Amino acid sequence: MSQPEILETLASLRARVRAWRAAGETVALVPTMGALHAGHISLVQLAKSRASRVLVSIFVNPTQFAPNEDFSKYPRTFDADKEKLAQAAADAIYAPQPAEMYPPGFSTTVSLTGPAAAGLEDRFRPTHFAGVATVVSKLHIQAMPDIAIYGEKDFQQLAVIRQMTRDLDLPIEVLGGETIREADGLALSSRNVYLDAAQREAAPLLNATMHESAARIRAGEASEIVMAEGRAKIAAAGFALDYLELRDAISLGAPDIALDKPLRMLVAAKIGVTRLIDNIAV
Ligand code: AMP
Repeated sequence: MSQPEILETLASLRARVRAWRAAGETVALVPTMGALHAGHISLVQLAKSRASRVLVSIFVNPTQFAPNEDFSKYPRTFDADKEKLAQAAADAIYAPQPAEMYPPGFSTTVSLTGPAAAGLEDRFRPTHFAGVATVVSKLHIQAMPDIAIYGEKDFQQLAVIRQMTRDLDLPIEVLGGETIREADGLALSSRNVYLDAAQREAAPLLNATMHESAARIRAGEASEIVMAEGRAKIAAAGFALDYLELRDAISLGAPDIALDKPLRMLVAAKIGVTRLIDNIAV
């Protein structure tokens, strides 16, 4: 099994991609914050099916965490990540230091409206998507891959990145990969390690409630009533609910159920100190 090449500097990343391009290779980028699990690896597999070279970035991006969030305790498992990426046959890992991404005097932020202002994550993490879009635009420009792959697990993020990549004319195809789950429906997340046994047992209720609610809406029940009951059920199970919403799957705006357009149900809730998010097609 060959080991992926480790690239720690922008100069080494650019040299690697330039050499691939000179050899006629196509390049897919899979951005991550590390603590890799089967969800991330599924994105690497999708990347391998779509490009001849796969580059995975591992960077815990400080600018997308608010001061009260878990930046300092976010799991960092580089050696295990490297092993998983070797098994998945990724070609290279880009793992820059924070000072490589944000040198002293760094002064630029990508400013967003549209899907980033849909009133979902942005209501509870008002600075989050500016940090995501800034680091993702840097990664897209630094690597300039043919394809960049993101998980549907972070559905609003995927919409923000699609819009930003299009608006900035970056010649990169953004692809979404489906959410990988535990057998009981809990979406895999690097933050699931924070859950204690009782919380882990309760956590699948979010996904189960969305599926029940979606089935009732598809069967013709009034969505306002179904969604209100879903919110009450999640709160009664001990979660601190941020939102449970039914939205247009493309714009993330208010849905028009009569128009038969694709819909998405999205949830965010805290259990103890751990904030979980999930979403499903309706
Ligand atoms: P993160 O390391 O959490 O920033 O995630 C890196 C990428 O993996 C993002 O595009 C996520 O949407 C994606 N991802 C996270 N969890 C999953 C999952 N359970 N299934 C598929 N993709 C995921």
